Amino acid sequence: MTTQIPPPNSITFLGTAGARFMVSKQLTASGGMWLNLEDTQILVDPGPGSIVQSTKRKLRAEKLSAIILSHRHLDHSADVNIMVEAMTQGGFRPHGRLFAPSDALETEPVIYSYLRKFLEGIEVLAEGKSYSVGNVSFATPIRHIHQAETYGLLFNATGHKFAYIADTRYFEGLRKAYAGSDVIIINVVLLEPKAGLDHLSVVDAARLITELKPKVAILTHYGMHVWQAKPWEIAERLTQETGITVRAAYDGMKFELAQLESNG
Ligand SMILES: [Zn+2]
Repeated sequence: MTTQIPPPNSITFLGTAGARFMVSKQLTASGGMWLNLEDTQILVDPGPGSIVQSTKRKLRAEKLSAIILSHRHLDHSADVNIMVEAMTQGGFRPHGRLFAPSDALETEPVIYSYLRKFLEGIEVLAEGKSYSVGNVSFATPIRHIHQAETYGLLFNATGHKFAYIADTRYFEGLRKAYAGSDVIIINVVLLEPKAGLDHLSVVDAARLITELKPKVAILTHYGMHVWQAKPWEIAERLTQETGITVRAAYDGMKFELAQLESNG
């Protein structure tokens, strides 16, 4: 057991709320995910409260090397400005990069112009590209089907591949894009697929888990109905149905990649 904050090669969930009602009522938090991979710290999707959740958990923004936005929606980007300010210590120590799709940076940018100069650089996410930050590399294999330009992330660290399957409707391309992942993190907003709503449901998650056969699947970003149905019970049921370890993320959960060895 380690007392380091955050633990080496870990994913800390700074929130598990997805979509409008869960987030606006803060039934669970919505701060995104804090990665510590190969001694490189990266914040993904800093939704509302990211600064509160990260400081409360003694995570130090000035240690971040990058902030990545899967897309511009508020529940994924609301705290990006304050997190850039915290990462760069109010601009006194410019460093770190911001990765975001072009529609988060162009007509109505989610990041204030005066903060941009504190960053080492801004990189535009695009389909089929790979990026590196410190000791970590990641790819954005496919554009998701969602109202805003959205990409999931495929990380390669410590010999493990893990995928963050951000907001999207289910489509065939997901299977190929995230094949071979040891861990998949799935944003599950709905219980069942709903026409006109470009979000993954529990039904879609079951299908993806069966198709991708990861060692571990982690559910997060719950919509209201998913939350009311108790994600931990859903995870238990999916584990039984698929034969694959499915976990329901909770606020503050730390997943260490070393756990994969025991789940192998
Ligand atoms: Zn969204």
